[in-house]
Amino acid sequence: MDLREFQNLNAVKSRLLKIAAGGVCEHCGEAYPFALLEIHAIYPRSRADTACPDLQKEVLILCPECHRFFHARPVQVSIQRQLVRYRPKKVKTAMRQVLGYQPRSYVPPETNPPDAIFREMFESGALDLCLNGG
Ligand SMILES: [Zn+2]
Repeated sequence: MDLREFQNLNAVKSRLLKIAAGGVCEHCGEAYPFALLEIHAIYPRSRADTACPDLQKEVLILCPECHRFFHARPVQVSIQRQLVRYRPKKVKTAMRQVLGYQPRSYVPPETNPPDAIFREMFESGALDLCLNGG
């Protein structure tokens, strides 16, 4: 589903995204009425990267002026992604809730038990306690 479809089908979610962003443009920081704020889609990466998408990374909430600017003089995708990166954690969390983000569960890599690793390092003399392990 592309962004336009999403907005048409999910008018409420679109509004909630704008509310999550605090009703301000994420580029210029100006406050705007929710009806005027627009959702800008950052061009998606490869299909492989979107297998488990964190959709809040793919959108920016912009005022009409900034949105026009983003398209008229295409703003580099890396800069757009930087705006997403510096998005406050509170806003990210709220946007993820709106977009139904499911974080992948973390499975730590298999390693030896820590006590066996420590014993091996200690016995081999790799651990110089006077230098705090360094
Ligand atoms: Zn703006």
